[in-house]
Amino acid sequence: MTTETRARLVLVINSGSSSLKYQLVEPDAGVSRASGHIERIGEESSPVADHQAALRLAFKQLTEAGSNLQTADLAAVGHRVVHGGNEFHHPTLLDDVVVAELKKLSTLAPLHNPPAVKGIEVARKLLPDIPHIAVFDTAFFHDLPPAAAAYAIDRRLAERWQIRRYGFHGTSHRYVSEQAAAFLERSYHSLNQIVLHLGNGASASAIAGGRPLDTSMGLTPLEGLVMGTRSGDIDPSVVSYLWRSAQMGVDEIDSMLNHRSGLVGLAGERDFRRLHAMIESGDNSAQLAYDVFVHRLRKYIGAYLAVLGHTDVVSFTAGIGENDATVRRDALTGIGELGIVLDQRRNLSAGTGQIARISTDASPIAVLVVPTNEELAIARDCMHVLAGS
Ligand code: ADP
Repeated sequence: MTTETRARLVLVINSGSSSLKYQLVEPDAGVSRASGHIERIGEESSPVADHQAALRLAFKQLTEAGSNLQTADLAAVGHRVVHGGNEFHHPTLLDDVVVAELKKLSTLAPLHNPPAVKGIEVARKLLPDIPHIAVFDTAFFHDLPPAAAAYAIDRRLAERWQIRRYGFHGTSHRYVSEQAAAFLERSYHSLNQIVLHLGNGASASAIAGGRPLDTSMGLTPLEGLVMGTRSGDIDPSVVSYLWRSAQMGVDEIDSMLNHRSGLVGLAGERDFRRLHAMIESGDNSAQLAYDVFVHRLRKYIGAYLAVLGHTDVVSFTAGIGENDATVRRDALTGIGELGIVLDQRRNLSAGTGQIARISTDASPIAVLVVPTNEELAIARDCMHVLAGS
């Protein structure tokens, strides 16, 4: 009987190529019991040889923090999976067949899905008696209208190779838009929203009455806004031009666009706190990186105001969105005619881990800072799967 009264927990795992983030979440109360981040997996000088060693280390850290997974009332292990392709648009209970399907999807997301599959395989081995559930970053955007989902390329080729705009960060866009509606005490389905998720990866979405109409990431998380190390939108001809003229191979170009572009490519620095310090000291490339980032962001905000026609709320979230008042100011200043009037004082005092309104009371569109919590959203998705809803 005691187990029934104890809070049920979900272990959320986010497994990347060289890092593993974990969090033990109590979904009902919405609290995190423990969390950790293991880095440099498989690197030469690292003591963590592979994902199995990383997960064992995570379990050890959890035990040391007072949460022994063998004795805790673990209801599920939730795995964040970046790409669900066309097949997966709901949180899915993992078995051997599903894992095999996920492996096939690795061609669509070679940088992101293989490490997630590795994390799933290792975790299923180490915790064989607990249900494992995959939650997909693409799921929320699965039903984008065709006008937003389709690329204007040869249709047969696109169908043959499943080339469409999938969208990512869906767990965060959904969570933040739901939180925004709750904060404004309005029904989720009555609001038109823009969500700006600005972290190391960055994406924007336009959501009408709970249904996404557009989002900035595409076939992969490379499209759209300027990011820490990713270029975001470029003319696709840059790829063939580099291939032809600079004799770069396709993997080299892919790696350049994903790992050595964005803020790092322009300024050699991806952290906004240090970027601001560089700008203060007169660094021109840091200024350019900042300007390109903010210009692209403004462009997407303007585009999504037009896509929605009527907008009720714009929300900023993730590391930069929640903490950088300068970026928020520069992205939204001077567009009162479009219905957005920022309260500079509120903007400066937001970002305390609490949801906050940063527009003036008279602003036709409410602007909010909303802390995201992808782990909690994943944990709650897992509980819904277990409850069969
Ligand atoms: P991800 O989960 O995509 O790795 P986060 O959402 O944690 O990223 O965001 C990380 C980024 O947020 C950092 O690279 C940094 O640029 C930015 N950031 C974090 N804290 C602050 C802060 N106090 N001021 C400005 N930027 C910040």
